[in-house]
Amino acid sequence: MIQVGAAPPELPCRLPGGLRVDGSWTRDAALRQLTGWDEEWLAGWDRAVPTALVQSALLERCVTKLGEGGSSPQLIADMLVGDRDYLLLCLRRMSLGTKFDAVTECPQCASRIEVSFDADEIPVEERPQQEDSFATVLVRADGSELQVRYHLPRGRDQARAARAPDADRASVLLASCLEEVEAIKGPGAVAGLLDTAAGQQLELLMEQQAPQVTLDMDLVCPECGHETSRDFELGPFILDELGAGAQRIHREVHSLAYNYHWHEAEILAMPRPRRHVYLGFLLEEGSQGAPA
Ligand SMILES: [Zn+2]
Repeated sequence: MIQVGAAPPELPCRLPGGLRVDGSWTRDAALRQLTGWDEEWLAGWDRAVPTALVQSALLERCVTKLGEGGSSPQLIADMLVGDRDYLLLCLRRMSLGTKFDAVTECPQCASRIEVSFDADEIPVEERPQQEDSFATVLVRADGSELQVRYHLPRGRDQARAARAPDADRASVLLASCLEEVEAIKGPGAVAGLLDTAAGQQLELLMEQQAPQVTLDMDLVCPECGHETSRDFELGPFILDELGAGAQRIHREVHSLAYNYHWHEAEILAMPRPRRHVYLGFLLEEGSQGAPA
């Protein structure tokens, strides 16, 4: 007798940065595989909702452990952007496997460029964290100096930026990470906003201090031979991919219910990889109601 609806397997995950849980820094996390319930939820999310908010909601569902305890919306929002992307990558890997297929467009001739890569090829830069915030001096274009205290971008900063108009997102993110700003020298006597020069210095510092999960690829267009490099934004890319795959969930539930007579709730509770094993059998046997 097949046990349907058993708890999905969990996988431990070592965060490349880490977060403070109950006062101590930890890099320990665990995730469970996606189930049909998660996919039904993913299939239904409103595409107008910014991806940072969807990513938070998905991690709240699938992260089972942070430090010694469980996950919480608060902790998911506290996590560094690189750690959140790393968890999403782990979730993708354990639920859909390591092989990625993406399609991009040649900037020269607009032809489709198909790109395949493996999750293990995605560089993860570990930057274990020990400080909540950092102090530095930034120099504005007019030569005035700002003493600032800032933290590295976290989920809650991303969410704040995601709600701002497109053109303002980068500056809203930086402003959200600033904890104290004080003018120490020069004409900008009042500690004002960062100008472009100071903002760029801060972005560079953050990049050097934060864990990074980024994928830059050198591509050659098969049509015109144009060479280009493309920086895949991992979070939106994986969420799009998961959302697109999730559109088939009801068709898959139908196929399994039709052939195995399992209940809808049991099928939805199955981890995605196990559900796909049975769907594979149906396809092999050419069963009626098998997924197209
Ligand atoms: Zn081209």
